[in-house]
Amino acid sequence: MIAHNLGFPRIGANRELKFALERYWRGEIGRDELESLGRELRERHWRLQRDAGLDLVPVGDFSLYDQVLDHSALFGVVPERFGWQGGEIDLDLYFRMARGRAPSGEPAAACEMTKWFDTNYHYLVPELKAGQQFRLGSGRLFEQVEEAKVLDIPFKPVLIGPLTWLWIAKEKGEPFDRLALLDGLLEVYGEVLERLAGQGAEWVQLDEPALVQELPAAWKQAFESAYNRLQSAPVKILLTTYFGALEENLSLAARLPTAGLHVDLVRGAGQLPAVLDQLPPYKVLSLGVVDGRNVWRTDLDAAMETLTVAAERIGRERLWVAPSCSLLHVPVDLELERELDGELLGWLAFATQKLHEVDLLKRALEQGPQAVEDELARSRRAAESRRNSKRIHRPGVAERLAAVTEEMLQRRSPYAERRPLQRARLELPLFPTTTIGSFPQTAEIRKARRGYKAGGLSREAYVERMREEIAQVVKKQEEYGLDMLVHGEPERNDMVEYFGEQLEGFAFTRFGWVQSYGSRCVKPPIIYGDVSRPAPMTVEWITWAQSLTDKPVKGMLTGPVTLLNWSFVRDDQPRAETCAQIALALRDEVLDLEAAGIRAIQIDEAALREGLPLRRGRWREYLEWAVRAFRLAASGVRDETQVHTHMCYSEFNDILPAIAEMDADVITIETSRSQMELLDAFEHFEYPNEIGPGVYDIHSPNLPTVEEMVQLMRLAAGRIPAERLWVNPDCGLKTRSWEEVEPALRNLVEAARVLRESHL
Ligand code: GLN
Ligand code: ZN
Repeated sequence: MIAHNLGFPRIGANRELKFALERYWRGEIGRDELESLGRELRERHWRLQRDAGLDLVPVGDFSLYDQVLDHSALFGVVPERFGWQGGEIDLDLYFRMARGRAPSGEPAAACEMTKWFDTNYHYLVPELKAGQQFRLGSGRLFEQVEEAKVLDIPFKPVLIGPLTWLWIAKEKGEPFDRLALLDGLLEVYGEVLERLAGQGAEWVQLDEPALVQELPAAWKQAFESAYNRLQSAPVKILLTTYFGALEENLSLAARLPTAGLHVDLVRGAGQLPAVLDQLPPYKVLSLGVVDGRNVWRTDLDAAMETLTVAAERIGRERLWVAPSCSLLHVPVDLELERELDGELLGWLAFATQKLHEVDLLKRALEQGPQAVEDELARSRRAAESRRNSKRIHRPGVAERLAAVTEEMLQRRSPYAERRPLQRARLELPLFPTTTIGSFPQTAEIRKARRGYKAGGLSREAYVERMREEIAQVVKKQEEYGLDMLVHGEPERNDMVEYFGEQLEGFAFTRFGWVQSYGSRCVKPPIIYGDVSRPAPMTVEWITWAQSLTDKPVKGMLTGPVTLLNWSFVRDDQPRAETCAQIALALRDEVLDLEAAGIRAIQIDEAALREGLPLRRGRWREYLEWAVRAFRLAASGVRDETQVHTHMCYSEFNDILPAIAEMDADVITIETSRSQMELLDAFEHFEYPNEIGPGVYDIHSPNLPTVEEMVQLMRLAAGRIPAERLWVNPDCGLKTRSWEEVEPALRNLVEAARVLRESHL
């Protein structure tokens, strides 16, 4: 039996890579230093994996920015604007593609970034043009294989498979069929495999997660022809699928002429019997039984049972054991967490711990369970304690959830009846102006928050400091002439963390960093138990802001779906149920705000879209429970209380009906970068409530002019009645400076004035 891994986080347990990259970009260290840190990290991680007992260790999973970009470099795919003349793609050309600039070379527009399947990892989208040529553009992969050999690491090169790489690429310029490029692409794959074989690689892992999505017929055929062609490569190919079950693509995947197949038995838990039925006798089967997407300790008994079933069918010699997918998506090492309590610690496993689980499972299968008796007992105790812990299962929460009625998901009256009541109470003009919530987070604000957290600043001094800031923000908004105000969110470090820290059932790590893109990492909270709200979370700040002005101040909350999607979620109950628990907790907050006299409440659902399942066939089910959760949080209020929501993207076309079902009175969305997309969305579906298409692109340092904003609003007014339009930026202002925000908001208010005049 073989124990192996599919990929390891490269950022380093202490985010060493992040800090080195940022120093390099600032010009504080040179190439050699950066490269040598990269080598050090690779060596450390390879040794860690080998010493954990793995028989095969991935090489090629390390990247200085992004592994998809590494493939573009490997295949010599560099957009023309970077002026590449051929030859080895050097570090700065690579960083210019990633970030638009680097210590040397001309700046140019960076490549587009988007999410890697349904993870929170962002890759750089390969840009392909009609007739794109491919040729080896980088020797890094082969150098890394050499490094591994010198260190005597049992290496297995890892590449993204040709079809998945093409699948996630985008054509630029004249539209064309990307599959037309497959032949040329396969030629370089052939070359790469040949060289790897020459370096002594026996196995090569080709990742094809595209196989867990619905594929057009032409793409399925392309899989066949591509792998038929790669069959002649002098290596054994492990066709690797993850992030879901193969379903209708199973027979295709099983049939492809590769020496092995890896399947994800965490996300695709039910697929083992079908896989065993279809696996040709000459293939090895790698089973991903350790969750690579979440932080829980594996239930070793259950995993052993699965592996035993497989071993009995196909024999241990053909069976491999692995994490479900690359461990890129989990934090590096639980050992660093000294502040989590013992019970919680006992339930968790990060990347390093997961390696040991893989090894343990192999030993248990080969030598019998008695060989790893202690570890099995520990795993059993953890599973047992998770099943019974009072910190996880809190009867009050379950009871409340069971008592939720359909009525609780409905506002009292339909929007058309709520609208006049709200307008009268809020005294809003035509084209009301507002912002999305946060205002610039200055160095002093951050310092005060840090000081309070670290204990240097007293609660009283901290509250005083925040109140001053809020008063400033309110005053400025009045000065600019905005119609609906916000408190500015100075007390929030992060829109998920702020709420998670105040809710029961959430835990926070100190070092649980996961790479989001490039040098950026996030530290998602861990939802381990039933969620409830012990005390109001935002009321004191919002009511303070409201006490300073006659204009309405919006209460500001992060929505249930976003809190869920940006956390590690418990795996012992359906996501929908966890989401509903969060929604109930937020519902209490909404009602407290209303009772405190707050007339409008915004519930941000920035991450609603990214929770969409990989298979379109499952979208409906997800959207149904996600929308229900939002409505459960929002619908307790009276008709005259206005509910807002905000979303950070403009690709609405396909989910607009679901967004309408959320029944928020007002939605503010990102549109300023892609005005046409918004219009497309409204072509086929009439959004019934009020909407604020963002007219100030807060991701750009550029100052939007009055004319531009008027122009954008006129475009919107062509599709949506003017009475239902709001004027606002397209996201929160926290990353901008006051020097940028002030003139932009003055222009925005002026734009609304121009619009009102032309409408009178
Ligand atoms: N209310 C939040 C803010 O203004 C929303 C952030 C977001 O949409 N990501 O910062
Ligand atoms: Zn946003």
